[in-house]
Amino acid sequence: MQDLLALFPEEIGAIMREWGEPSFRAAQIFRHVTAGDRPSAMTTLPKALRTRIENEFSWRLPSVEEKLSSRIDGTVKYLFRLFDGECVESVLMRYHHGNTLCVSSQVGCRMGCRFCASTLGGRVRDLYASEILGQVIAATRESGERISHIVMMGIGEPLDNYDNVLRFLRLVNRPDGLSIGYRHISLSTCGLADGIRRLAEENLPITLSISLHAATDEKRSAIMPVNRRYPIAELMDACRAYYRATGRRISFEYTLIAGQNDSAEDAATLAALLRRTVGAEDAPIHVNLIRANRVEETGFSGTGVAEANAFAARLTSLGITATVRRRLGSDVNAACGQLRRSRQRREEAGQ
Ligand code: SAH
Repeated sequence: MQDLLALFPEEIGAIMREWGEPSFRAAQIFRHVTAGDRPSAMTTLPKALRTRIENEFSWRLPSVEEKLSSRIDGTVKYLFRLFDGECVESVLMRYHHGNTLCVSSQVGCRMGCRFCASTLGGRVRDLYASEILGQVIAATRESGERISHIVMMGIGEPLDNYDNVLRFLRLVNRPDGLSIGYRHISLSTCGLADGIRRLAEENLPITLSISLHAATDEKRSAIMPVNRRYPIAELMDACRAYYRATGRRISFEYTLIAGQNDSAEDAATLAALLRRTVGAEDAPIHVNLIRANRVEETGFSGTGVAEANAFAARLTSLGITATVRRRLGSDVNAACGQLRRSRQRREEAGQ
C-alpha cells in the first residue's frame, strides 16, 4: 500500500486519474493530508472516495506520545509514536523570527559520536519521508501554530537517509502544502562528505550545518568515528563544493566539551582551519558554539558559560564570527535523543 503522506500532489493526481476522479481531487486531498486529516475526516470528498482512500492507502501520522513544555522559554518537546511502536523526538522552539521545529530523520543513529545520546542504541531504522513530514504536520496541528522554520538536528543523521530526507524537503517546501521556504530550512550533518556533494547538486538553497566539534583529525576521530572515513580535509572540500554550487553560507556547529576541545589553543586551531579552507573562498561562514549537554552514559560534560564566551571572543578576534547558542528547553530534556532514551529505559523496566 502506498503511503499517502509521502506523495506529491502530482502523484496523487495520477492515481485519481486512474480512478476516474476529476482533476481537482489531488489538490483537495493534498490539502487534507497537509492539515493532518485522516482519510475518514477528508470531508470535502465524497464518502465513497474517502472509503476507497482509506482502504487503498496507508495513512501514518505520528501520534503524540508525550509532550513536555518548558516553563522557562516555551519550548515544547514532543515524543512521537510511529506506526510500528518506535518513537522519535521533535522540538518546537519559539524565536522572534518564528517557530522552528527540530525534526528527527532516523530511529536512533549509527554514527557513534561519543557525546551524543541518540547513537547509544545504534540505528533501528530510517524514517520514511512521510514520518519526517508527519512530525511537522502533527506539531502544527497539536500546537495550533504555524511552523516557519525547520532544522534537521533531531535524532539521526539526515544524509544517512538521503532519499527520504530529500523527498521530505521537497514536500515540506510545496507552496500548496506547508510552504516552508528552503532558506528557512537547515540540515545538520556529522560530515558524510559524499552526501554533502550529492546535496550540492540538488540545487536546494537550504542551509548546511556541519557538526565539526574538533579542528584536528586526531581530536575529531576520537569523538566522532565518522572522521576516520571522511577526514577534515575531505569534509572541507565537500563544504567548498557546496558553497560553490549554492552560494549559501555554511554554518559550523561546535559542541564545547569540558577539557576536550575548549582550550584557547583549540580556538586558534579552529580559526586557522576555517580561514585556510572554507574562508579562503570568501565563503561566508558562521560558528555556533553549543555547551555540551550532559548525557549520563557518555561521561562528557559541557564547558562553563564564562569559558564558552571566552572561546567565542577568541574566535571573533581571529576573524571568525561565532555565537554561543542559548540553551532552550533545558528543563524538558530538549537535547536530542534524551527523551526517547528515558522512555526506552522505562519500557525496559516494564513501566
Ligand atoms: N546527525 C546530525 C544531526 C543530529 S545531531 C549531526 O550530527 O549534525 C544535532 C547536533 O547536536 C549535532 O551538532 C550534534 O553533534 C549535537 N549534539 C549531540 N549530542 C550533543 C550533546 N550531548 N550536547 C550538545 N550537542 C550535542
